[in-house]
Amino acid sequence: MSALLAFENVAASYNGAIAALHGVSLEVRAGDFAALLGANGAGKTTLLKAVSNLLPAAGGRITSGRILFDGRDVTSHSPAEHIRRGLVPVLEGRRCFKSLTIEENLVAGAVGRGFGRGQVTRGLEVVYALFPRLKERRRVAAGLTSGGEQQMAAIGRGLMAAPRLFVLDEPSMGLAPLVVAEIFEALSRLNREMGMTLLVAEQNSSIALKHAHHATVIENGRSTLSGAAADLAARDDIRDRYLGGK
Ligand code: ATP
Repeated sequence: MSALLAFENVAASYNGAIAALHGVSLEVRAGDFAALLGANGAGKTTLLKAVSNLLPAAGGRITSGRILFDGRDVTSHSPAEHIRRGLVPVLEGRRCFKSLTIEENLVAGAVGRGFGRGQVTRGLEVVYALFPRLKERRRVAAGLTSGGEQQMAAIGRGLMAAPRLFVLDEPSMGLAPLVVAEIFEALSRLNREMGMTLLVAEQNSSIALKHAHHATVIENGRSTLSGAAADLAARDDIRDRYLGGK
């Protein structure tokens, strides 16, 4: 089986000077639940932004290497083109349109992919089955919902674009442990029951290693370790050295 996503020696920097990634190579196979672990500032967000060509909007760029999606070089594809092909990011926590209702936020996610009414209806069914709480809150303005509900809405909005590769940045950020567990359980279900391929960056390494199949550790813009999540979770030395002992 070939990789759905491949990073080949990708280097990236901000404002032409600050190097944030130094030749990272990694592969995510179709059907995988892949985790990207690392401390604050290690380069996880930069890597995820590079995947969907969102670095220029943050004052950065890829300086060398290339990114393949489904065997095709997509390094210079626009963010909109990525979404049309099914490479869908949910970055920087929960970015909802606060004055729109939860359901309006969800429907907005289908627009970028050019979906019609039938696909929107099916998408809503998937999201509400995964997060029943969003169905209860569907007519409430997103700004009036809890942090956990907003994160679920952000994930749901991404799902409305029917991802082939779903890319998430720190879905646990700022949330209570029970909500984090609920969100990771939902991500696991998407992977298990729908076969969705996931790439998830997390500082909360224990929850990520519990659910992911494979993990890659990023340190100072380099990929320093990669392997089966269960193997990494079982090694105390790795936990202490790379994962903050979590
Ligand atoms: P976090 O968990 O804090 O998001 P991270 O692992 O995602 O950390 P990045 O945000 O990718 O790390 O940051 C990698 C490096 O790039 C850091 O040194 C950071 O200071 C720098 N950096 C990130 N964004 C910018 C930016 N817009 N302009 C300049 N430097 C940046």
